[in-house]
Amino acid sequence: KKITIAIDGFSSTGKSTLAKQLAKQLEYVYVDTGAMYRAVAFFAMQNKLIAADSFNKKALIEALPNIQLEFKFNPNLGFAEMFLNGENVETQIRTIEVSNYVSRVAEVSEVRSKLVEQQQEMGKNKAIVMDGRDIGTVVFPDAELKIFMTASAETRAQRRFDELQQKGDTVSYEDVLKNVVERDYIDTHREDSPLVIADDAIEIDNSYLTREEQFAAVLELVNE
Ligand code: C5P
Repeated sequence: KKITIAIDGFSSTGKSTLAKQLAKQLEYVYVDTGAMYRAVAFFAMQNKLIAADSFNKKALIEALPNIQLEFKFNPNLGFAEMFLNGENVETQIRTIEVSNYVSRVAEVSEVRSKLVEQQQEMGKNKAIVMDGRDIGTVVFPDAELKIFMTASAETRAQRRFDELQQKGDTVSYEDVLKNVVERDYIDTHREDSPLVIADDAIEIDNSYLTREEQFAAVLELVNE
């Protein structure tokens, strides 16, 4: 039986959709680690530590002890929402502004070690599905199942664009594509825990897979 399931991959590959669905089906805890990095980026934005042309890393590192992150399960939504210092920030962390800053914040080693430690704690003695970039490589190198998701940048940008449009965001497709490509670049080139596929991960390219096909394939891997 696979107790720890790590789902990694590039931006907007549908990791969280798959992970949520899987956790629900298996009755495992689901943790979206991207939400944690997004919440830290949102904190940095709110406190004017990051902007388009500036990033006060030192101040962010100093402020880390004052950043408290918590997931609270919302039974109406069927998943946990992100709370930053007691405030529900689930909506605020999904904007394109946060997406534009988050990878720079995620480059900071001190940020990573704080979040990795908290993620490892959440997975202790629990059946868990966790999605992110470094779950199979850094957070849970011993995970029983590791999935690495990819899809073409255009496919991913289109999906993210549709999602944002549904929420009423007026962002353009070009801007979303630019953000996807930029985040891929930063995530794969950072010094600390760059995005790489774990040796024992199973790669799924879902450019031409429906959600249902993908879910069925992964469920089979879980039950193997
Ligand atoms: O998964 P999501 O797109 O919400 O993640 C937002 C950003 O957070 C990623 O682009 C990446 O820079 C960072 N991240 C990370 N490690 C993780 C999860 C997310 O560096 N485990």
